[in-house]
Amino acid sequence: MADTPGHALLLKRRQFLVAGIGAGLTALAAGGTQANPLSKRTGLALPTHYADAAQAEAFWAQPRVVNLTRAATGEHRRVCFWRDGAVVPGGYREVCHVLRDVRGQQATAMDLRLLNMLFGMQSWLYAVHGFDEPYLVTSGYRSEHTNANTEGAAKNSLHVKGMAVDGRYANLPAEFVGKFLASYRAGGVGFYLDRRNFIHTDVGKVRFWSTK
Ligand SMILES: [Zn+2]
Repeated sequence: MADTPGHALLLKRRQFLVAGIGAGLTALAAGGTQANPLSKRTGLALPTHYADAAQAEAFWAQPRVVNLTRAATGEHRRVCFWRDGAVVPGGYREVCHVLRDVRGQQATAMDLRLLNMLFGMQSWLYAVHGFDEPYLVTSGYRSEHTNANTEGAAKNSLHVKGMAVDGRYANLPAEFVGKFLASYRAGGVGFYLDRRNFIHTDVGKVRFWSTK
C-alpha cells in the first residue's frame, strides 16, 4: 500500500522525536544542565543532615538506575541511564520511552535533572531502608494535546517540557515521598493527597503546593 499522507506524517513525527532525544543527549554531553549550579556534577545535593561531601560524592559516582512501573500500561523497567560520569545513551532513551505520553504514544528528551532526582530518591531509600519497590508513574511527558485533555493540568505544565513526573509508591505514604523529594529543593513538588493520591515533582522553580 502506498504511503498515505497520514502515514508520512506519522513517520515524520517519529523521526522528529528520535532527533529530539538525540538533541537532548547532545545538550547533556555539552554540559547543557550546568546552568543550575546544583546540577553541575550530579543534578542535586543529598540532604546535608544525612551525608557529608565524601558520602555524597560516592553516592553520585554510582551507576544511576531508575526502577519504574507505568500505572497505565503495567510495564516495568529497571534502567541504568548514567555510568562512569556519562549518560548511557541506550538507557537514557529507554527511560524517555518509559516516561512517554502513553495516551499520545510520543516520547521526548526528559530532563536529566528529573532522572537524577528519581535515582536519588530510589537509591537513598534502598541504601537507608532496603526499600526497592518500583516507582509507579501515573504521568510523565505529556504532549500539548494530552495535557489539554488532562484533568486539572496547568496550561504551562512542565510535563509538556519533559521536566515533571507524577507518581507514588504502592507501600509508602505519598506524603512521605513528597516530603523526601521536597528536601532536595531542586524544583516543584505538588501533594495530591486526595483520591488521586500522587506526588507531582518537577525541576522548575522551587515551590510546594498541596490539594489537601
Ligand atoms: Zn504533575
